[in-house]
Amino acid sequence: MSLDILEQAKNSLRGQLTSKQNMTKESKQIMKNNCPVCNQNIDSSIEVCPRCDCPIETFASQEDYKDYLEKIVRPRIKEWEERGIEYILINKDTAYEVRRPSATNVETEIIIPAEHKGLPVLSIGDGAFSGCAKITSITIPHSIKRIGCWAFANCTSLANATIPDGVTDIGAYAFENCTKISNIIIPLSVSCLGGFAFSGWTGSQIIDVIGKKDESAALNMGWDNSWLKNSKATIRGMHLD
Ligand SMILES: [Zn+2]
Repeated sequence: MSLDILEQAKNSLRGQLTSKQNMTKESKQIMKNNCPVCNQNIDSSIEVCPRCDCPIETFASQEDYKDYLEKIVRPRIKEWEERGIEYILINKDTAYEVRRPSATNVETEIIIPAEHKGLPVLSIGDGAFSGCAKITSITIPHSIKRIGCWAFANCTSLANATIPDGVTDIGAYAFENCTKISNIIIPLSVSCLGGFAFSGWTGSQIIDVIGKKDESAALNMGWDNSWLKNSKATIRGMHLD
């Protein structure tokens, strides 16, 4: 009799342990390691998303997860989409990077300021305006050093964009499928240009490369050797005397 009780207790404990293990595994699978509001990559140990302040919870069941999506996530997504340009501290909190929280509810003309709260705005983040199909014009200030990967990818209405002198890095796919831009100038300051940066461009679109006297010199800049990959854009060198 006493053995039976001991055996029952053991089995019950085993059951609890197993269900706890399953729960952890299931929670991780449900959350997919991304914040459900802003899609920020998150560590499973955090309790609040550092980007949008959404509480990150664990769930015992799909029902709990649905409840969380309905009551907590859904109202926050709307709030998140209605935010303006997002500023993220970088370089040990001495400068800002801009990002756009969402591709929806976006203005048509974006003006990025050179300064925010007294600090310089140095970078346009990876994927910052990616997929913002309503943007027609973007003003990039001279403070910007870096244009991130996919920063303007699939901005299919974007017609006016000027890369200011001072930008040193342009990431991969930065201007992918920006097929409304008739002409863009790459200034002398650009030392790193990522692969597929102008992917999807057509032959009627022109890329002027400052500081190079002809097309072959422009094509041999020491940038990523696939910077023009998948692009039919017309390249012109522009010699500075
Ligand atoms: Zn978030």
